[in-house]
Amino acid sequence: MSTQKLKKFVDTIDKHLTAEDIVVNIDLCTGCNNCGHACAWFLETDDQRLHPRYRADVVRRVYHRYIAPPGKVLGALGWIPTPTLDDLRADMDTFWKCTACGRCTLACPMGISTRRLIRIGRAAYTESGLADENPTLRAIVDNTRDKRHSFGLTAQQVFGRANLFLRFLQMDIPVNVQGAKYLFVCPAAGNAKIPDLGMSLMQVMNVMGVSYTVTPDVIDTGTEVDHISVHHGLAKELLEEWEDAAERLDAEIVVVAECGCDVRTLYHEATETLGRAFKFPIVSIDTLMEQAIEDGRLPVEPIDASVTFHDPCYVTRLSGLGERYRRLMPKLTRDFREMTPNREYNYCCNGGSGGLKLAENTILRRKVSLPKINQIRATAADLVTTPCAVCYLTLKDITESYGLATPNDRRARMFFEIVHAAMMKALTARGETDRIHRPAVFEGKDEAWLAAHSGVRMLEGATDRQAFEAMMAWARGDPIVQSFGERHPGFEAMLDELEARGHPVQREGAEG
Ligand code: SF4
Ligand code: SF4
Repeated sequence: MSTQKLKKFVDTIDKHLTAEDIVVNIDLCTGCNNCGHACAWFLETDDQRLHPRYRADVVRRVYHRYIAPPGKVLGALGWIPTPTLDDLRADMDTFWKCTACGRCTLACPMGISTRRLIRIGRAAYTESGLADENPTLRAIVDNTRDKRHSFGLTAQQVFGRANLFLRFLQMDIPVNVQGAKYLFVCPAAGNAKIPDLGMSLMQVMNVMGVSYTVTPDVIDTGTEVDHISVHHGLAKELLEEWEDAAERLDAEIVVVAECGCDVRTLYHEATETLGRAFKFPIVSIDTLMEQAIEDGRLPVEPIDASVTFHDPCYVTRLSGLGERYRRLMPKLTRDFREMTPNREYNYCCNGGSGGLKLAENTILRRKVSLPKINQIRATAADLVTTPCAVCYLTLKDITESYGLATPNDRRARMFFEIVHAAMMKALTARGETDRIHRPAVFEGKDEAWLAAHSGVRMLEGATDRQAFEAMMAWARGDPIVQSFGERHPGFEAMLDELEARGHPVQREGAEG
């Protein structure tokens, strides 16, 4: 078994190393250690095991001993180290005490991508089965394989909970609309952790008037299997499921939400994962918002609160999209304050790509977030915003643990929340706040169409009573639903009323 695992580990590294990886990322390292000056995990701990080079050298040793042609001879002579399975197991934790943020490359005189070697190393740990020894890493793969959602939620839970919020807020969402221009896909971290905040984004979509749809066939974008586990097989399956859904619904374009990993995947890594280009054009939701602000479809008025901006590494450093937010911020706030350093030199939140997900990292992660907190503190801004769900969750966590915020007085905001606040200010001034409620594709549709495509009508008219009751029982115990109820008087009563009613619910004017 050990021999098989070691072989699989080596084979995976061999499979993913390109000629460029070998020439540059493996062989050009001079051992100067400059990369450590850019990595918060090393800078804040001085722990050599957390130095970028330490992790990369694990991959280099495997390559030189087991893959490079002279390795067999040199290894047999004892001139180079022979990593054993136990050696690899002992170093596994260091691969997930890194966010694959790429900041270390900025400090490397040879331009070495340590993050690339870390991703290849993670793939080897996952494919060899060693990563299964960590329960969180195992759960990501098992949940994705079995439930198509890395947090283990079902489509009924994802959509049922969102529809409860939508119903209370007198909103709605278009589901499985054939011929909608955009298919909107949401990462699991978004629909699992911040579905309540997502209501603001839905309101922005309604006001923009975009023709979009969602589908219960895609409830996870594969963020965690792609970037935490680096399980290329499952990541590929999920990407193909997006394509199938877009094809079936005859959508023209796929829209990704505010998720740094999804932006990176779709703009760059999907091609490697699929072995070909993704079949549909991809656009970030923030691109749609920028276009709608530019052409006047999305009115905004700068808010008074001072706001600073956290660059998600995967959006700015690794996808080159940071300037868009610099164009937008002055339109959204009267007082935009840059962090120092910013853009590609900004410090990582330390939560992405597993930093936040692995609970055993929490104390260390908060410790290495001191540079990030100092950046935020130095701006003295009222709010810190970011276009990434995991960065947001991490910023929320560290602003609270460092005493800059409380759970009831959030300082962290999703970027779309800032857009939403500026939009509401403009709509209120115009007396047009009614525009937030209804998706554009609902216009002119009859009751039969709405019964088939309105998320809220589907909730109300659920014919599978057993599934509905199971979802409601789960929702009643869900902390996000409970927190929403505490912030929205009347929500609990709505749940009671919904449960007490027979099904399907008759709406005024509804047929049948
Ligand atoms: S990718 Fe980021 S977290 Fe990982 S070693 Fe480099 S600087 Fe550190
Ligand atoms: S800075 Fe570059 S060359 Fe120097 S140790 Fe790090 S990866 Fe190697």
